[in-house]
Amino acid sequence: MNPADVAKVRSLLSEPQNIVIIPHKNPDGDAIGSCLGLLHFLSCKGIKANIVVPNDYPKFLKWLPGNDEILNFEKENSQCMTLLDAATLICTLDFNHLSRTGQLEPILEKSKAKFLMIDHHQEPSDYAMVTYSDTQMSSTCEMVYNFIEALDGSEIISKDMATCLYTGIMTDTGSFKYPSTTSRTHQIVAKLIEKGANNSEIHQRIYDTNSPARLHLLGVALKNMVILEGYHTAYTTLSQEELDTYNYSKGDTEGFVNYGLTLEGIKFAVIFIENKEEGIIKISFRSVGDFSVNEFARSHFNGGGHNNAAGGRSKESMQLTTKKFEALLPSYSKSLGS
Ligand code: 5GP
Ligand code: MN
Repeated sequence: MNPADVAKVRSLLSEPQNIVIIPHKNPDGDAIGSCLGLLHFLSCKGIKANIVVPNDYPKFLKWLPGNDEILNFEKENSQCMTLLDAATLICTLDFNHLSRTGQLEPILEKSKAKFLMIDHHQEPSDYAMVTYSDTQMSSTCEMVYNFIEALDGSEIISKDMATCLYTGIMTDTGSFKYPSTTSRTHQIVAKLIEKGANNSEIHQRIYDTNSPARLHLLGVALKNMVILEGYHTAYTTLSQEELDTYNYSKGDTEGFVNYGLTLEGIKFAVIFIENKEEGIIKISFRSVGDFSVNEFARSHFNGGGHNNAAGGRSKESMQLTTKKFEALLPSYSKSLGS
């Protein structure tokens, strides 16, 4: 974080503020971990803040310290509206376009509050007074660590902060295996363990809480997989009917997209998941190497993200969506190395 931004944040926090912290819609481990990490940090400094999430998030994140303080805009609407109306400082974490907050977007656009952005996605938009954006970072949690260190030094980090930040770094790096994981990431993680993050327990609480529904759905997703060897691509689908058959609940399909990439020679993996309620197909894109799924999602599926992990959506049927997807591949044959 550059010294000018650190000075701006210091000056903002030296005045009384009504602070609201917001992650993106469908928040993941990094989004929830970074919001809670920041909440605990501010609380340590005697600064009260609130977290408002646009919608619900997976159960496997709900044990994180401070979880009970999180307000859900869909469920606790009037309380959230009151907080947003009164907000003087809004911290947006793990996203960089207000459209990523779904229903919160028009409220944030109208807000008179000052904004602080901490995020590692590509192509940030320009809405914040302080934009701490770095696409090289493994995770927003790593950036919140840097933020805390720059403001107060790492000694202030409590066990609760460490636990939340560790969780987000772990989930966004695929347990420290993606190329965004640097020696600095490991140094930070080492510090978080010293500060009380129980690495083994966190791993267990996030990954070893499969429900029968999740494993059955994984079976369906693996069975539905289409492998297009010529394009080094594998994709799979889950229809609403399949989700309903196995009593899908939020978070059950997390990580399924990565299975395609474990096939030898596959560089591009995609999962299409139908959401009848929203009338969309939610798409997750993953790649290894140079093929930019951010560009692909942005250009064709109203999405974005990072070079090797991005999301998007389609308003067409599953059949038309996968047809469109397959038809796009020939124009990428060079970058897919086919
Ligand atoms: P996932 O596939 O797990 O939903 O998302 C992968 C990555 O892309 C995450 O970093 C997520 O924040 C980002 N992402 C997911 N959906 C969208 C989207 O619609 N737009 C943008 N800009 N990023 C997205
Ligand atoms: Mn992230």
